[in-house]
Amino acid sequence: MSENEMVTLKIDDKEVKVKKGTTILQAAKQVGIDIPTLCFLKDINEVGDCRMCIVEVEGRKGFATSCIQKAEDGMVVHTHSPAIMESRRVILDLILSNHHRDCLTCSRNGNCELQALAMKFNVQHVEFEGEMTEHKIDDKSPAIVRDFNKCILCRRCVATCKNVQQIGAIDCIKRGFESCISTAGDNSLADVNCTFCGQCIEACPTGALKEKENIKDVWRNLKDPEIYTVVQTAPAVRVALGEEFGLPIGTNVVGKLVSSLKSLGFDRVFDTNTGADLTIMEEANEFVERFQKQEGLPMITSCCPGWVRFAEKNYPDLLDHLSTCKSPHQMFGAMIKSYFAKKYNIDPKKICTISVMPCVAKKFECQREEMEVDGIRDVDYVITTRELSRMIKQANIEFTDLSDDVFDEPMGEATGAGAIFGTTGGVMEAALRTAADVIEGKDLDKFEYKAVRGGSGRKEATIEIAGKKIKAVVVSGLNNARTVMEEIKAGKADYQFVEVMACPGGCIMGGGQPIESSKVRREVDIRELRADALYTIDEKSVIRKAHKSPVMKQMYAEFLQKPDGEIAHKYLHTKYSPVKKYDI
Ligand code: SF4
Ligand code: SF4
Ligand code: SF4
Repeated sequence: MSENEMVTLKIDDKEVKVKKGTTILQAAKQVGIDIPTLCFLKDINEVGDCRMCIVEVEGRKGFATSCIQKAEDGMVVHTHSPAIMESRRVILDLILSNHHRDCLTCSRNGNCELQALAMKFNVQHVEFEGEMTEHKIDDKSPAIVRDFNKCILCRRCVATCKNVQQIGAIDCIKRGFESCISTAGDNSLADVNCTFCGQCIEACPTGALKEKENIKDVWRNLKDPEIYTVVQTAPAVRVALGEEFGLPIGTNVVGKLVSSLKSLGFDRVFDTNTGADLTIMEEANEFVERFQKQEGLPMITSCCPGWVRFAEKNYPDLLDHLSTCKSPHQMFGAMIKSYFAKKYNIDPKKICTISVMPCVAKKFECQREEMEVDGIRDVDYVITTRELSRMIKQANIEFTDLSDDVFDEPMGEATGAGAIFGTTGGVMEAALRTAADVIEGKDLDKFEYKAVRGGSGRKEATIEIAGKKIKAVVVSGLNNARTVMEEIKAGKADYQFVEVMACPGGCIMGGGQPIESSKVRREVDIRELRADALYTIDEKSVIRKAHKSPVMKQMYAEFLQKPDGEIAHKYLHTKYSPVKKYDI
């Protein structure tokens, strides 16, 4: 880089040389100076609205907003002068004056950016007490609760929904004291184009957005001696739950996770990775059939309910392209209430199945009318990674002190292919491992498809199997999904296999995962750390292809007979509807 592309400035007496175009906020970070932010969300909401990140620039009137003000050659910047500190305190005071301050009973107590700033700036009482706007709580959707009495109008949710997901289900309406975040026609999220991806929850710095809790339902069933409780836990949960207990991002806590679930009193603890293996068996065979007949291509994955809801609402004419496979936890729920119940002579009506998921859309999915067999629901409740952490804390379990335990038989041992389902590209890679062996009719040594790995929102790969080329595309984030769907609709796409995940990065970045602050999000690649942990699980797995799993062999031999067959279809497949009947 040439010298004239660089600028040199002084921040709090520290000299810093940065690339032209760098903001003061970024430049300060380079020399270890932390400027507080509130509305700022890296690459998503960089608008300088809240003015928490103000700094003084010598020789200029007023304060500059460091998240948008570019560093200039010769600038002398002060980030923590008494005047700035006082202004930040006043800004916080004003925000708090129109905020329901029931911190002790808020789900974000202890993990709220507003609370942390109030503490940091020693706001011990609110000076600007006065009239407060009162908002009705929107809890109609099965997945998300909105309490705008705790909203600080930072618009991080709006930017995420509009710019990242390109859904635009929410926006800022009205002006001045009346301003608020709302939907078209001020309807509930349940009644608009929201997909329940939950990315807005992850973006929110306060308790204004949260998942619809099912903790009480789970406790009630755990305490009922008549009920047999079976819990399953998704691949992405094990590489994120530790964050709720202070462990580094990307720590694999699977042993402690199983231990904690057993300590909570679940009768059986199963691994959704085994459900993912089952999905691979079905989806890979469905793909092979479509590919060999050259029908229904491209086949598009269907394991993400946020994506399915998006497709049903936006691409009703393309629903035949979606695989008919249920998602892994729904498949597994159906197997628990049929195969497992029969094998252990338990009345399926007495079984309560609970899924611990990184996802809030799965709360909606488990309530869909199709997700049952012979009147028996596949999954009764979905709780998020965050809800599980709350249950562990309620039960006074010292998570980090727990010793490791293993999943229960008979559906305990999953493959590495099931593990990578939690990250973008993982479903495609896992399915290709099985599809390639099925088409070639042998156990191929080369089964890693690294072209579909990584954090990019769109990845393409052409794979040659038995002399035939399969062109695949992997997208995460609904903006990327929309682009690919438009190409398919226009007849411009020549793919045979498409993987879609609603959340950017896949389920490891799901709307039910631990919420990391804006500061952590701008300093650490959370997606990469969690994804690396999943790929390490895969690498260390003894079996890395779903169809090699002894558990799969046993389930098909004892119950399902054959992949994509009649019994498998009854329990493991579903259908989609272009109409709006799923609006709850
Ligand atoms: S859940 Fe997703 S689609 Fe719905 S408002 Fe939030 S970000 Fe938008
Ligand atoms: S709901 Fe949360 S993210 Fe959205 S504007 Fe309010 S405080 Fe910000
Ligand atoms: S990507 Fe995963 S976490 Fe996100 S909506 Fe889809 S299934 Fe849920």
